[in-house]
Amino acid sequence: MTTAPLTGRAAIYILFNYSPMKKILLAQLAVTCLLILSPVSNSIYAQQGPVSKWPKGISYEIFVQSFCDSDGDGKGDIKGMTSKLDYLQDLGVEAVWLMPINPSPSYHKYDVTDYYGIHPDYGTTGDFKQFVNEAHKRNIKVVIDLVINHCSSKHPWFLDASKNENSPYRDYFVWTHKDDPQVKAFVTQTNEDSRNRNRWNKVEGSDYLYYSYFGPHMPDLNFDSPKLRAEIFKAGRFWLAEMGIDGFRLDAARHIFPEERARESHAWWVYFLNEMRKVKQDVYLVGEVWASSDIVAPYLKGIPALFNFDLASSIRKAVNEERADSLAIKLKAIEDFYTTINPDFIDATFLTNHDQNRIMSSVDDNMDKARVAAALLFTLPGSPYLYYGEEIGMRGKKPDEYIREPFLWDNAKNDKGRTSWVTPRYNTDSSIVPAARQIKDKNSLFNYYKSLIALRTGSRALGTGELIPVDLGHKEICSFRRIREDENLLVLHNLSKTERSLQLPEELAGYKTIVFKTKTNDVKNNTVQLAPYSTLILKK
Ligand code: CA
Repeated sequence: MTTAPLTGRAAIYILFNYSPMKKILLAQLAVTCLLILSPVSNSIYAQQGPVSKWPKGISYEIFVQSFCDSDGDGKGDIKGMTSKLDYLQDLGVEAVWLMPINPSPSYHKYDVTDYYGIHPDYGTTGDFKQFVNEAHKRNIKVVIDLVINHCSSKHPWFLDASKNENSPYRDYFVWTHKDDPQVKAFVTQTNEDSRNRNRWNKVEGSDYLYYSYFGPHMPDLNFDSPKLRAEIFKAGRFWLAEMGIDGFRLDAARHIFPEERARESHAWWVYFLNEMRKVKQDVYLVGEVWASSDIVAPYLKGIPALFNFDLASSIRKAVNEERADSLAIKLKAIEDFYTTINPDFIDATFLTNHDQNRIMSSVDDNMDKARVAAALLFTLPGSPYLYYGEEIGMRGKKPDEYIREPFLWDNAKNDKGRTSWVTPRYNTDSSIVPAARQIKDKNSLFNYYKSLIALRTGSRALGTGELIPVDLGHKEICSFRRIREDENLLVLHNLSKTERSLQLPEELAGYKTIVFKTKTNDVKNNTVQLAPYSTLILKK
């Protein structure tokens, strides 16, 4: 994010880390702007721009096919995405994660047929280079999905290897003979959902079967093969060196080797990281290890950033059940544990991603709850990821196409960028206020997200500060402190529909200055007023 314009709609005015004289001047400036620009009521701090730097910043996941269409074919594309970089910069995004952009026969493109190409629906390598260039001009980093656990069954490597036992690519895949007794046992099982489902697939007219974890159209690549490893390094180097991207989101990172060989999967990613660092010393890797924290942790040595699926489900549960329970305590335990594995780890936090029902639908379209969920995400530790459309309240439940619906830029008749590759079930003009209208409405979800992002990126304590859980004796209040250097914050979220008035205990008496608030929240004489579904952040 570059210097954000000081507008009334920017919502947050942050005075952290400024000298007293500058604070007075900024406060006067802020007051002037408040008078001129009719701001939202929770704006009491002066905007000073980001103090924390990506990757300890805000990232935004994009399904390119649904984001913005530049040529009217109904499918999102790279040029369309380039035209929306100003929108992302205005929102405060510091990096984008693009779901796969390589050629692929499927709409989601998680089965690649060419590791060096751009899908023709999305554009050309020239378009992509321009996108990266324009993103970098706006201080937005570019991270792309790298799907290397498997490729497409239509990849030329597989087409050749499956036809020909002597193919130079035969060794790129995992084969077994039909008479292998272990395989026979698997093949007789028919339940596709079972953990032991058949992962061996027949090749017509052959006595051999190939291994695929995610279904027959996604044959697993064989990481025991030195030649295959060299291919993967080559592809990785290409995107970093030739295309100028900043890093990779690593799909299915825990499936490189089967579960019983997990240590070899951990080791592979250390190897991969070291190879990529030879091309780009500060390469960013964020991994998908969809598992509990004990399984996630050993991957941190090779993949410094990992998605926190545990936290995402805990936030959704807390918001839905209106009980904070031990949310902050659990997160603190995970962070302390991860620190022992890799002190420089990055906790990639999020509410939901492209594989899960959207957050708005996860809270039954309850706008109050969606706002509380966002407030939790942006005030707890970690490096938050947004899923495209979350900031305008897009909805969606599985099957997958319907959690990946077209973004709504404007009302349909004015929306030149809206994609139409799928008929939406959840996001239409009658259900969602499009971005263009939300941008103009100071009370919109978009501007709420924007204010939370500005708050987050302007605060060292929220960005990288220590987390200290606080128990105020009320299950529906999620409370914790965030501390970094001389910035000392007390964060209070009321997850419930009931208004609360709480006397702060003696040890919290020093928190008197409001940094951020929603609704009518206030603090007086050490008593905090917390409206239903609201947030209050106090500074010592
Ligand atoms: Ca298009």
